[in-house]
Amino acid sequence: MPKQFRQLAGRPVLTWAIEALLADARIDGVTAVIAAEDRADHDRAIDALDDGRSVRVRAPVVGGETRQHSVFAGLQSLRSRAPDIVLIHDGARPRPGTRLVARVVEAVGPTTGAVPAIAVTDTLNRGSDGHLGEPVARDGLYRIQTPQGFPFAALFHAFESVGPDGLADFTDDAGIAAASGLDVQLVAGEERNMKITGSGDLEKAARIVAPNHLPHIGQGFDVHRFGPGDHVTLCGVAIAHPNGLMGHSDADVGLHALTDAILGALADGDIGQHFPPSDERWKGAASSLFLDDAVRRVAARGGRIAHVDVTLICERPKIGPHREAMRLRLAELLGIGIGRIGIKATTTEGLGFTGRGEGIAAQAVATLMLAESDELDHG
Ligand code: MG
Repeated sequence: MPKQFRQLAGRPVLTWAIEALLADARIDGVTAVIAAEDRADHDRAIDALDDGRSVRVRAPVVGGETRQHSVFAGLQSLRSRAPDIVLIHDGARPRPGTRLVARVVEAVGPTTGAVPAIAVTDTLNRGSDGHLGEPVARDGLYRIQTPQGFPFAALFHAFESVGPDGLADFTDDAGIAAASGLDVQLVAGEERNMKITGSGDLEKAARIVAPNHLPHIGQGFDVHRFGPGDHVTLCGVAIAHPNGLMGHSDADVGLHALTDAILGALADGDIGQHFPPSDERWKGAASSLFLDDAVRRVAARGGRIAHVDVTLICERPKIGPHREAMRLRLAELLGIGIGRIGIKATTTEGLGFTGRGEGIAAQAVATLMLAESDELDHG
């Protein structure tokens, strides 16, 4: 999934970015430039905004083959509105601060653009073949961020005069603006205005957008009895077996224990309360439905799932050969990386009901990051 649509503290990255821009009342509209196939993800990101904010979001524009072509498509969509100032922002930067946005807006003039920049302080070196090479003087070197602000008319003119064929020669919008004679000022950037490139960045960004999130740990336990059948479903993976597991749904003990662990961390009841076995609707249901619901409850609380760990307890089937398939399936269902998902298995040395092969038990632990104030809201 493109990084601007990944979940960050319970909402897509793009939602955070648009919200940050709209926090400045002078910005009267935001248009996302997206790939055509990302329309559904875009719409979900907009749905996650407060209603008061989403009224200022315009229909998205389909971008082009390069970043510059995409920016040009966005500018063309604004032509009839002819705004005074246009800000161009990278949707993978979730949290430009209010003051940063204001600095950019205020530095833009009729023939002046503004870009946020941070002076490079680390020692720089042009390494060669993995060895230290020539030092590079860092004087006057800056890391350039977004949003970048421009007078709309002048920037549009600059893009038009470069033309679609010339756009690929430029690496950024400021370069196109500068080539057309616009003066581009540097304003102070912010370290917290980070760009999400790898999945480790999501973690760092979560501490920026939701610094008051604390870990909440929940545990779940479930048992299902063996009965007639030719397979069992464990953690969403069907495994051939001389018996099936009996239950109202597909009897996936792993998913049931995990769903209860998540609900426990939310202090939001249990699976039986939300999906009563007496309700015919859940007869034979795929248990992923229950887990989906728990994941939605986490998102609705602005939380995120930091980690889950499931232990399956049985003599048979052997879990090891299916472990990676289970982790992949849970990564998909939970919307988190596979590195945050533990699947373990144990026998009970022939003791007890699992030892006698009467059924399968599962235990699960889930760690959620929830806003501190959330406890007060739901106490
Ligand atoms: Mg169950």
